[in-house]
Amino acid sequence: MKPRLIASFFKSLFSRMGHFARAPNPMACSNCFSDKGLRFDAERFGRKRSAACPNCHAIGYGQLTRDQLLSLSDRFFVWGSIQRATYGAAPLVQFNDVRPTCIEVEPWLKPDVSLLERLLGIGFFYYDPRLWMIGEVEPLKALQRKKQRSRILKRILKEYPERSIGPADTFFRIRVNPARPNDPSQYDSPPVAFTGNGRLDSPGKPILYGSSDLEICVHECRVSAEDEVFAATLAPLRDLRLLDLSALLPEEDSITEFESLDMAVHMLFLAGQHAYNITRTISESAHSAGFDGVIYPSYFSLLRTGAMPFETTWGISHRRIKQLQKDEQEKSIPNIALFGWPIAEGKVSVDCINRVIISRVAYGFHFGPTLSNGGP
Ligand SMILES: [Zn+2]
Repeated sequence: MKPRLIASFFKSLFSRMGHFARAPNPMACSNCFSDKGLRFDAERFGRKRSAACPNCHAIGYGQLTRDQLLSLSDRFFVWGSIQRATYGAAPLVQFNDVRPTCIEVEPWLKPDVSLLERLLGIGFFYYDPRLWMIGEVEPLKALQRKKQRSRILKRILKEYPERSIGPADTFFRIRVNPARPNDPSQYDSPPVAFTGNGRLDSPGKPILYGSSDLEICVHECRVSAEDEVFAATLAPLRDLRLLDLSALLPEEDSITEFESLDMAVHMLFLAGQHAYNITRTISESAHSAGFDGVIYPSYFSLLRTGAMPFETTWGISHRRIKQLQKDEQEKSIPNIALFGWPIAEGKVSVDCINRVIISRVAYGFHFGPTLSNGGP
């Protein structure tokens, strides 16, 4: 597929269906649907109009055009059926205007599938993901094999950019129930006895974790309503050299997702605790190479930005498409990890300490289908 052709298709979400005729008039309303989650999402997508719904003839519900119904189908069935793998993730369901419907859904969703098939001329089927989406990425597989790991670690140190942060680059560090909230040393890395539990700290190798995004800090500390929470504003006392693992790594066009170091590192930081033994070795390598710390993408980046994980079109990762790389970079929330005890070592100062009152928590969500047999 030629990049220019890809770019032209990306102008709208329904680029993948570019040949569909567009109709600006509404075709259905939220009242047309029986699945409660789909009704809820349809109401959010739709717009209220004075005329009756052309499908069910009801008045007063959000009405949806063809494009909006396609967007709704994409979000409910495709994003709504995403399954996480050990590394990566892929939707269980996809749809197009070529294949007939073959997914098994529960009785409350059956009439809705029939309605969307009839109105849009589409069929819903079980998606066969390209295997890179579920972790078949060579550098990632090499990192999981101890004998091949050092080769990839060397590449990470060489290919990822270095970033320097100085006194103007303040960031936050949260402590939950600290013994002495007004004591700056309470905001340094934990004592050796408490090391080896996090994404980047190995036993005996302390790390100070911080972020310039306070909401990410609060979320990562799993704060609850009863906790006493304090936020220290920290500032480097001199320029610190960091390896920026949150950067989207530009790679040659000839490198596919299956060979991509960028995809390997991206998947590692979106994986759960099973990835810690690998992320810790990256951190140790950066320390040995003389860096003061690393910048890494938050595990909660997608929750914070509301983005779909591992977005693709025609099986091509959006990270591999130049026109979309800026958007992809913005989906990543950078956190800071500094080696050692940077406050005690005079690398970082505590400029201010505030008490944090959690006053309100809000959730953003949308719905997906309950598949009758859990998938293909
Ligand atoms: Zn209707």
